[in-house]
Amino acid sequence: MKEFEIRPRKLFSEYLELSKRDINIFFSDHTGFKIINCPGCKSDNSQIAFIKHGFTYKKCIDCSTLFASPRPSSEMISDFYRRSESSKFWAEHFYPETADARREMIFKPRAEIINTLLSELNIPEPRSIVDVGAGYGIFLEEIRKYGFFKDVIAIEPNKDLAECCRKKDITVFENAVEDIKDDELKASVVCSFEVFEHLYDPDNFIMSMKKLLKPGGILLFTTLTYSGFDLLVLGKNSKSISPPHHINFLTIEGIRALINRCGLTEVLIETPGKLDLDIVKNMYDEIPDLKLPEFIEYLIKNRDGETHNEFQKFLQKNNLSSHIRVITRNN
Ligand SMILES: [Zn+2]
Repeated sequence: MKEFEIRPRKLFSEYLELSKRDINIFFSDHTGFKIINCPGCKSDNSQIAFIKHGFTYKKCIDCSTLFASPRPSSEMISDFYRRSESSKFWAEHFYPETADARREMIFKPRAEIINTLLSELNIPEPRSIVDVGAGYGIFLEEIRKYGFFKDVIAIEPNKDLAECCRKKDITVFENAVEDIKDDELKASVVCSFEVFEHLYDPDNFIMSMKKLLKPGGILLFTTLTYSGFDLLVLGKNSKSISPPHHINFLTIEGIRALINRCGLTEVLIETPGKLDLDIVKNMYDEIPDLKLPEFIEYLIKNRDGETHNEFQKFLQKNNLSSHIRVITRNN
C-alpha cells in the first residue's frame, strides 16, 4: 500500500487547505481553550515543541508524548465537526472518492487481522463487537463476514453515518460513546480505529469504552503514536499533525501509562504501520528544501524499493512505526 492510494495528493491538499481556513473561522479566538496535562502519563512537566496553524503542541518531558495544549473544549470540537467546511468536504468528497480503495486497502485487511488476533484470545460469549466511531460501517460489514461474532454493533454520533450503518443491518447507537449509559450495552469486544487522536479527553474516552465491556472483554484501539518514524522525522512538517483534528500523539510509554491508569491489562501493543518511509519520501519530494537527517536522506536517495520495504518492516517489527494498535483486557 502507498500513501497516495488512500490519500490522493490533490484531494488531501484541498482538505488540509480547508482545515486551515476552518481554524481561522472556528478557533481564531482561543477563549475557552483548556490547558491540559500530558494525556499519556498526566505529568504537568512539558515544553513547547512547536506551534502549527495557531495551535501549540507540547512535548511531555516524562513520556515524550506530543499533544496540543491549550486545546478547544469538547463542545468546541464537536461543534467544529458538525459545522466545518473541512468536515463536510471529508464526508462528501474525500471519503466517497476514496471509499473503494479504503475498503480494499484498509478495511478488508483490518477485518482479517482483527479477526485473526481476536480468534487467538479468550473472548466472553456470546461474542459481540462494538465499533466506536463506526463511520460508514465498512469495518463491521467486513468483520461480520467471518462469522466469529454473533452481534456487530456501531456507535456513531453522526446522523447520516448512523443511517448508513442501519442500512447495512448493523445495530446502531446514535450517540457519542461517552453518552451511553451504564448497562445500556455490554459487549465482548469494543474497538475504535483512528478516533483517539481527535479527542479532547482520551481518559474519558477509554473509560467510556471500558464501561461497555463484559468482564474479561477486550478493548482495542488504533491511533497515531509519537514513538514512530514519520512523525518523529517530520515533526511539525508531518501532515498527520493537523490541528484541530489531530491533537493527541501518545508515545508507547504514554499509552502504557494511560491503560494502567484506566485499569486495563495490556495484551498486545504493536505498530503495524506500512506507510512511514513512503510518507517521508513523499514529503521530501514535495518540499525541496525539507531538512531531513542525513542518514534518512541517503537512505531515500541511494537505496532501492527493496531496501525501503525492509526498512519499513524493521519499523513494524520493532514498534517504531507511527501507526499503533493497542489491545487490552478488562479484568
Ligand atoms: Zn507524559
